[in-house]
Amino acid sequence: MEMEAGETLTMGMEAEDLSLSSEKPPAMAMEPPKIHRLEPSVVNRIAAGEVIQRPTSSVKELVENSLDAGSTSISVVVKDGGLKLIQVSDNGHGIRFEDLPILCERHTTSKLSAYEDLQSIKSMGFRGEALASMTFVGHVTVTTITEGQMHGYRVSYRDGVMEHEPRPCAAVKGTQIMVENLFYNMTARRKTLQSSNDDYTKIVDLISRFAIHNVDVSFSCRKHGMNRADVHTSGSCSRLDAIRSVYGLAVARDLMEITASDDDPSRSIFNMNGFISNANYIAKKTTMVLYINDRLVECTALKRAIEIIYAATLPKASKPFIYMSIILPSEHVDVNVHPTKREVSLLNQENIVESMQGAIESKLMSSNTTRMFQTQTVCPSASGALVAHKDAQLSQSSGSKTQKVPVHKMVRTDSLDPVGRLHTYLQVKPLGSQENKTDLASVRSAIRQRRNPKESSDLTSIQELLEEIDANTHAGLLEIVKQCTYIGMADNVLALLQHNTRLYLVNVVKLSKELMYQHALRRFSHFNAIQLSNPAPLYELLMMALEEDELACEGDGPKEEIARRSCDQTYVELLKENAELLQDYFCIQIDQEGNLQKLPVVLDQHSPDMDHLPQFVCSLSNDVNWDTEKECFQTIAAVLGNFYAMHLPLLPNPSGDGLQFYEQQTQSKTIRGKGSEVLTTDEPNERDLISEAETAWAQREWAIQHVLFPSMRLFLKPPNRMATDGTFVQVASLEKLYKIFERC
Ligand code: ADP
Ligand code: MG
Repeated sequence: MEMEAGETLTMGMEAEDLSLSSEKPPAMAMEPPKIHRLEPSVVNRIAAGEVIQRPTSSVKELVENSLDAGSTSISVVVKDGGLKLIQVSDNGHGIRFEDLPILCERHTTSKLSAYEDLQSIKSMGFRGEALASMTFVGHVTVTTITEGQMHGYRVSYRDGVMEHEPRPCAAVKGTQIMVENLFYNMTARRKTLQSSNDDYTKIVDLISRFAIHNVDVSFSCRKHGMNRADVHTSGSCSRLDAIRSVYGLAVARDLMEITASDDDPSRSIFNMNGFISNANYIAKKTTMVLYINDRLVECTALKRAIEIIYAATLPKASKPFIYMSIILPSEHVDVNVHPTKREVSLLNQENIVESMQGAIESKLMSSNTTRMFQTQTVCPSASGALVAHKDAQLSQSSGSKTQKVPVHKMVRTDSLDPVGRLHTYLQVKPLGSQENKTDLASVRSAIRQRRNPKESSDLTSIQELLEEIDANTHAGLLEIVKQCTYIGMADNVLALLQHNTRLYLVNVVKLSKELMYQHALRRFSHFNAIQLSNPAPLYELLMMALEEDELACEGDGPKEEIARRSCDQTYVELLKENAELLQDYFCIQIDQEGNLQKLPVVLDQHSPDMDHLPQFVCSLSNDVNWDTEKECFQTIAAVLGNFYAMHLPLLPNPSGDGLQFYEQQTQSKTIRGKGSEVLTTDEPNERDLISEAETAWAQREWAIQHVLFPSMRLFLKPPNRMATDGTFVQVASLEKLYKIFERC
């Protein structure tokens, strides 16, 4: 029961979320409905539907059972996407004759007896639910033979029990399990699955994933009636050979081996090895095959983190191929958090994800080294001010340990203990020692050059701009952005960050503007495109921008001048004249009719707020210096930076002072509505407006935490001015606070 509660609690959240969106029952007084106990058969079928969600889940459970049984050969046959037949045959240890009667009952297992065993469980199954579930939603037939027996037994099951006594039959070593007519008693699910028709592909994908990890097991997977297997491995080859035979030569050719490890209990303990794609690999979708303690799992956070690294290093934003096997102490992994065991939860997940990012980054960089630059040498500063160890993270080779201690651990230590003191975190290098390091920009341009030598030959202006960014980087702030922990938004504009023992308020709008500017230059001429659903006429956008401006500051001289000129369509013509440049270098596509068609993806997973589109077009026509190449690129990047920055949503924040705005709106409507009908805050429009605002604000906050800050850590080179223009403000030093608390 403890195990079930573990799952239901995590699932409960989803159920609650869903109920928010569904309609509420009418509030009128009703007789409370009588509560009764569900029939066991109903309970079992509901539970089974959760464990076996689609044919693939069934295949996964069966193959995992075969692996648990020590098989060295597993073959899978599928008919009709798994709905008609799934048959998994193995050469494992088989099932005892006397166990057959309870084999398919719920909670019967040979792998677990006490709850505590879960901590150290090595097998893939443990709940004794998979086979039972299959018998509640399909027809299961088991044929098995154990070592030393003269013949095997065959028996069919329904709803957890045997349909007849086991019948002796001829059998080869191991077990064969057949599941027929899956979901025969769940019409809706069967119909959806029938029409989706892609389960066989999913099954092939699943077996491929099993095959490249379990290289000493021979796998095959084929459609019923076909001779040719769609996956086939020999069971005695290297990992790379297995990847080659499953995913093809084109994938295997572009892979690099990677390893990383850590054994510092205060941070994380793990051992990782794997293969990752290099710069030549091109794919639209990420393939991530992740094993944690030999268990095939998913980890969205890790996948995202890796994609970010690739997006930075490969200008064409190719998605990676990743095979990764991570071994952790088993007590650090909770395997019982998901009904299909698809996800696991890890101790110190953040630190592990960070280490992986570091390892992959340095691997990608070292494989592409072209230009070296010398880092600044650091000298200890007396005041304990910010000290530079520029790109220290990047210089860590995979597998080596970093000096970093997680901030949350640090503040809990005794203030007398050196671990709690700031100097522990300063990485001091002897004067004169210099290291060679790669920088991201040079790697990127090298890759570009290889891909398109002509195109990059005359990009000196862009190189210069990127070098200026490097030269103008504030070393102390760089250290903060690389190492900080995001705590949350302090208000609409300021985010709270913790770095070592200090707290900072950071202006998110300014920060994102700079990040987008730098990114626009880095991705120069290599943007992916955002296609506008409707082409936007530049002329109208310009007029809108002018109207907004005039509202803001009632028409002064130059504004009228602009208005006149733009009415003449001069500006539209100007943009049309430069359309080729805008499209080739910045992916801003303007068609012959003067419509905006496409915008660039400046930062992955982020698109600009279209409410600012008029302002963007206006700046593009006003603020760009078209005459000199370098300034032209710089000003366009700045205009893009401004547009893509994380501005405040147009609607005020309903959870703050902004609520007044909505109340005022309502009041004015109520006044207008007087005499005819009374309008209240319940009027749908008002609620729509508030919920629209809530969504916009929630999305922004999510993007700040999950898109802006992760990219900032990796890519932002904070310019010197940010130290003084209010972008970063130090608000507290935890050390001092700690002392104050101690005195209390
Ligand atoms: P679990 O894997 O969680 O124990 P299952 O319902 O998947 O639960 O399987 C129940 C039991 O049946 C397993 O514990 C195992 O002893 C036995 N079993 C299932 N499949 C096989 C197989 N292919 N070979 C040998 N034993 C098996
Ligand atoms: Mg199992």
